[in-house]
Formats: sequence, C-alpha cells, structure tokens
Amino acid sequence: MDLRFTSQEDAFRAEVRAFIQKEMPPAIANAMTIQEGSDPEIWGQVRALRKKLAVKGWIGMSWPKEYGGMGASLVMQAVFKEEMAYWRCPGIDPQAYQLGPAIIIHGSEEQKKKYLGATLRAEITWCQGFSEPNAGSDLASLQTRAVKDGDDFLITGQKIWTSYAHVADSIHLLARSDPEAPKHRGISYFLFPTNLKGITIKPIRQMDNGHGFNEVYFENVRVPKSALFGELNRGWYVATTTLDFERSNIAGSAGTRRNLDDLIAFCKSNPVGRRALANPIMRNRAADLAIKIEVARMMAYKVLSIQSAGKVPNMEASIAKLFSSDMSAEVQSFAIELLGMVGAIDTGSKYAPMNGQVCRGYLRTGCKVGGGSPEIQRNVIAQRGLGMPR
Ligand SMILES: Cc1cc2nc3c(=O)[nH]c(=O)nc-3n(C[C@H](O)[C@H](O)[C@H](O)COP(=O)(O)OP(=O)(O)OC[C@H]3O[C@@H](n4cnc5c(N)ncnc54)[C@H](O)[C@@H]3O)c2cc1C
Repeated sequence: MDLRFTSQEDAFRAEVRAFIQKEMPPAIANAMTIQEGSDPEIWGQVRALRKKLAVKGWIGMSWPKEYGGMGASLVMQAVFKEEMAYWRCPGIDPQAYQLGPAIIIHGSEEQKKKYLGATLRAEITWCQGFSEPNAGSDLASLQTRAVKDGDDFLITGQKIWTSYAHVADSIHLLARSDPEAPKHRGISYFLFPTNLKGITIKPIRQMDNGHGFNEVYFENVRVPKSALFGELNRGWYVATTTLDFERSNIAGSAGTRRNLDDLIAFCKSNPVGRRALANPIMRNRAADLAIKIEVARMMAYKVLSIQSAGKVPNMEASIAKLFSSDMSAEVQSFAIELLGMVGAIDTGSKYAPMNGQVCRGYLRTGCKVGGGSPEIQRNVIAQRGLGMPR
C-alpha cells in the first residue's frame, strides 16, 4: 500500500494553498465563527471568492469535461477539499459537489443546460429541501405534497434545517407525489428557484446565535413539469445518487486538524494556555487527539480509494463519518476543558481565544447529526456491514 500523493497532486495542493493565501479575505476565515450567510458583507465576499474559484475551474473539478468540468480524479478533488477545509475557505457551494454530478446523471437536457454551467460559474447557490419536522433520519416519511395540476405541480408543506436557504437562489426538494404508494416509491424530486410565489423562509437561530438554518414553507407553490428531476415517483432513487456523491468526509478530518493546530498554537502563545498544557494529562489527551485525526484521515482515504476504484462505499463511509464527527466533537470539548472559563468567552470580546472559536465550536458539537446521525451510522455498520438483524 502506497499512501503517497503523486508529484502532480502535491503540486496541485501547493497551487490551491497559494491561491487561498492570496485570494481569501482574512475577514472570511475569521467569519467562520459567525457562520457564513448571516452577514451580507461577508457573504458578498464569499460569492466573489467563489467566482474566482470558478475561473480556476475548481468548482466542478471531477465533472466530465463535456459538461465543463476538469475531468479530475477523485484524489485531486480530495486534495482540493482538504486544503479548502484546513484553511477554512468557504469558497465552494457544497451542493455543487453533490447535486451537480447527480444532474449530469439524471437531469433532463433542459436542466443540464439551465443549471450545470451556472453552478460551475458560481452563479447559483443551492439549498437542499429534504428534512422535515417529522422526517429526518426516516427521510422517506416526508409529507410535503406535490400535486399534479395540469402541466404543473403544486407544492405544499414544510422543510426544516435548510442550510443557506436565506441566501440560496435555487432549491432541490423532495415531495410526496403519490400518497398511496409505498413510502419510498411515492416521492418525486424537483429543482426550482427559491423566489417563487408561496415560498416563505424563516430563520432558525442556533444556540450560538448563528443563523445557518431555516424553516421553509411552501403554500401551493406552482412549479412547471420541467422542474421534475428524474422520473415521477422515482425521486428517492435520484436523491440517493445526490447523497452518494459526498461520502468520504475528507474535509471533516482536515477541518478538525486545523482546529487542534490552532488550539495548540494559541496555548503556546498565551499564559493561560501554557499553564493548561503544563498538565501532563492534557498533553497526553492532545497527543491522543492528534493520533485520532490521523486515523480519521486514513479512514477517509480508504473510502476515497473504494470510490476511485468505481465501487460504492458502504460500511466504510459510515465508519469514517461516525469516527470523524465524534473526534471533531471531542476536540471541541477538549478545547473548552483545556482553557476553562477563558474558552467560554464568545466572539466579539478581545479576550475570546481564537476569535471565539472555542466557545462557538463547543456550542456546535450537535452538528454531527448532519448528514446522518451517529445512531443511524451505527445502524448501517451493524446491519449492512456486520449483517446483524434490523
Ligand atoms: C449542520 C446540519 C446541516 C443540515 N443541513 C440540512 C439541509 O441543508 N437540508 C436538509 O434537508 N436537512 C439538513 N439537516 C438536517 C439533517 O439531515 C437531520 O438533522 C438529520 O437527518 C436527522 O434528522 P432529525 O434532525 O429529524 O432527527 P431525528 O431523525 O428525529 O433523530 C432524533 C434522534 O433519534 C435518533 N434516531 C432516529 N432514528 C433512529 C433509529 N432508527 N435508530 C436509532 N436511533 C434513531 C437519532 O440518531 C437522533 O439522535 C442538517 C442538519 C445539520 C446538523
């Protein structure tokens, strides 16, 4: 087994790093603690940065060349994501990675023409309308309705936890189109703009006071037949393609590595931190976390190698996701324990360590639910991986 990157991949990593260091406004890196999207000025800078990344061709790196992508390997894409995550560069719409390739596979010619180029040029920001108040882990129980009305559909219902809906131009949404069919077989998938009549977007304030999520209400929202993504009532199967396109969790371990690096650097430069690190138990824990971050990276590379061989990861993706999200939460808890009351000082105070990241990071440890909760990952590992009964 040779885990080294090729010289071409190393050179690309250096190019991405140099780009970020030159082009990313410092305010954006610091603003990650305030959550992007909620501050119009910062969001404007994020959009401008996305346009520059688009010019480099890095938004649809792994898309086939005929669709405007670079046809780059998944490894090159992973190198890119690792650098972006490590430097906290929010330059890519995460949906571009997931939805774009799904449109290439399942989209109509009209949808490909309308959305692929615009996504690649960073002209569209997407949001994902999947979860509902009573349909999260059990997504197929969703109740938002799509009722045929002549050549159109009327969408009525509610979505929740919709990240970036407040800044998105378009939504990809699942709705129940046949209430009589078994639950997975009566769902259709739609692509449409977020400014249609009948759509109301309400912010959800997180306990760290950030605004990344929304509730989105649909009241008889009229969408044309051309908004249907894939076949009628077969939306579930198209949605699994969308979700399959981001499973390695490469970015997760790179982001956590950055959090630990920043924490240690802060501790070395600060009397409170130096005192905390003088405690051998704390030093041992920091070392354990550094090991876990390396393990998480190797797990992500394993998933990547399965994907690169054209296979679909299964238990491996769940193991990587579960391990890396638990480890990320552990780093946040460790930071709070290490710095004590100083760690609890929030953004906005000149005394806040790392611009409040310790405090905000700890308040966000619940984020490990996103993309599939720990219990659901354990179910996948037990049932699909170990062949245990449901
Ligand atoms: C950071 C973040 C971003 C998100 N962004 C989006 C987005 O853009 N669009 C979108 O549609 N959704 C989004 N979500 C929502 C996310 O997909 C859901 O939170 C997730 O699917 C869990 O659903 P739920 O919140 O309804 O919890 P539930 O499914 O109600 O789960 C509640 C608890 O019960 C446990 N549980 C549920 N079922 C089982 C079971 N069968 N066995 C054992 N335990 C079980 C869960 O593990 C969890 O602990 C986001 C969530 C987060 C945290």
